[in-house]
Amino acid sequence: MEPTPHAVPRETGWIEVIAGCMFSGKTEELIRRLRRAKIAKQKVVIFKPNIDTRYSTNSIVSHSEQSLPSILIKDVKEILDLVEDAQVIGIDEAQFFSSDLVNVCNQLADDGKRVIVAGLDMDYRGVPFEPMPQILSVAEYITKPLAICVECGNPADRTQRKTASAERVVVGAADVYEARCRKCHYIPTEEKH
Ligand code: ZN
Repeated sequence: MEPTPHAVPRETGWIEVIAGCMFSGKTEELIRRLRRAKIAKQKVVIFKPNIDTRYSTNSIVSHSEQSLPSILIKDVKEILDLVEDAQVIGIDEAQFFSSDLVNVCNQLADDGKRVIVAGLDMDYRGVPFEPMPQILSVAEYITKPLAICVECGNPADRTQRKTASAERVVVGAADVYEARCRKCHYIPTEEKH
């Protein structure tokens, strides 16, 4: 739910986090909020880590192929030099940034900006994916969209890796990952329990 105008803080910035598993619609929701801001003629700028080049190198793109132009950065601190007079800052795939994410977002919000962060809250093992736990702690608004478990149809908040790789980061989409619920999710390198 979009906060109503009266619920929005005044004379200050704030942090919104959209955290969830793959295929939960995080980027779609991020794009929806940023588009709304653009329609209201607010200055919007979007960043993402340059690790993720799945679909496009200069846009954020949801699995449903909506997209918005974005700036690729290596270090989250680069944002501070690039925001200029933007009023709304979007950050996608935030789990790939360092723990500096928290300080950067706090600084932007303290400067009066609306900061919207989207990212995976757990890795493929179901382990909290830093720095998402930390950014969730300092955010004013948290949204956790759920996917649907491909095995049983339950609401799903876990990302199932379909290969046996033990690397924390394996970039891919439906070829490598699917959404699963707690009951159906397992760590691929271990016996299913
Ligand atoms: Zn399930």
